[in-house]
Amino acid sequence: MSDLIDKIVRSKRRTLALVITKEAALEVRAPLNISLERIRKFVDKKRSWIEKKKDIVNKSRVLPKRFIDGEEFVFEGNLYKLQSSDCEDIEISNVLHLPKKFLPQAKRHLTFWYKDKALGKIIERINYYAAITQLQYNGVKITNAERSWGSCSTKGSINISWRLIMAPPSILDYVIVHELVHLVERNHSKSFWDRLQKILPDYKENESWLKKNGNTLVL
Ligand SMILES: [Zn+2]
Repeated sequence: MSDLIDKIVRSKRRTLALVITKEAALEVRAPLNISLERIRKFVDKKRSWIEKKKDIVNKSRVLPKRFIDGEEFVFEGNLYKLQSSDCEDIEISNVLHLPKKFLPQAKRHLTFWYKDKALGKIIERINYYAAITQLQYNGVKITNAERSWGSCSTKGSINISWRLIMAPPSILDYVIVHELVHLVERNHSKSFWDRLQKILPDYKENESWLKKNGNTLVL
């Protein structure tokens, strides 16, 4: 087998196809009776394309957190090194202090802490923008979503992902304003974007930041 191939998936298909998975592995989709040699030749011909693709995936890949001292965590757009400490509760200063007693369940405790910080900040910012835009919302809930950053129900309740507390503050503001505008403009019509732009003239930068970096907002 070519040294590049991680997996071959055979099925009733007629052509060969190459898939780079999100783990940066090469999966070859192949017809049932094509020889290994032909697969290998095909892959070798595409070597430079495969290597380039793998490189891109690897660079954008977010490695699972290990919750060890010195590991970096992001909060409101800034990086903090984790430091296990003798403190009673999680604290943030120039580093992120994690009580040693929380270490066995570090992810659970940190998630809880992030959610708590997110809720406070979201309520503060949503009230700020509701006041200046005169848009009335009925309630706010935080969600766990990793892609659907915000949503707005027909009853006027707004949902925002707690993960946005990791992003720079302007990103959270953008998602909040986006959902507030949906209270009066349900669809992504021209008048929706016009209205949004009047409140946040640079909203496009925030949107592309989210597209590019949204996958990093995980614990
Ligand atoms: Zn929308």
